[in-house]
Amino acid sequence: MMATVQLQPAHGRPLARGEIRLEVDRIACDGFGMCAELLPEIVELDDWGYPIVHSLLPKKLLPMARRAVDVCPVLALRIRQGH
Ligand code: SF4
Repeated sequence: MMATVQLQPAHGRPLARGEIRLEVDRIACDGFGMCAELLPEIVELDDWGYPIVHSLLPKKLLPMARRAVDVCPVLALRIRQGH
């Protein structure tokens, strides 16, 4: 059985303590879409193949988000955590 992931909006407010967000540098992003493949739970591609991060990053997806940051070919991804 697959565990459910509680999703919350990704944008529109500062991060509260402990909240984690995957951010995309839209200028640097080339739209290869690897981040959406690695994190389909929170990233989808728009009609042009550019990522839309539609929720905060659940802690359980942090390892996969770190992997996405590492494999992004143009270093356009960053993980930001609220303090
Ligand atoms: S992996 Fe990097 S370059 Fe590719 S779509 Fe995601 S942010 Fe953009």
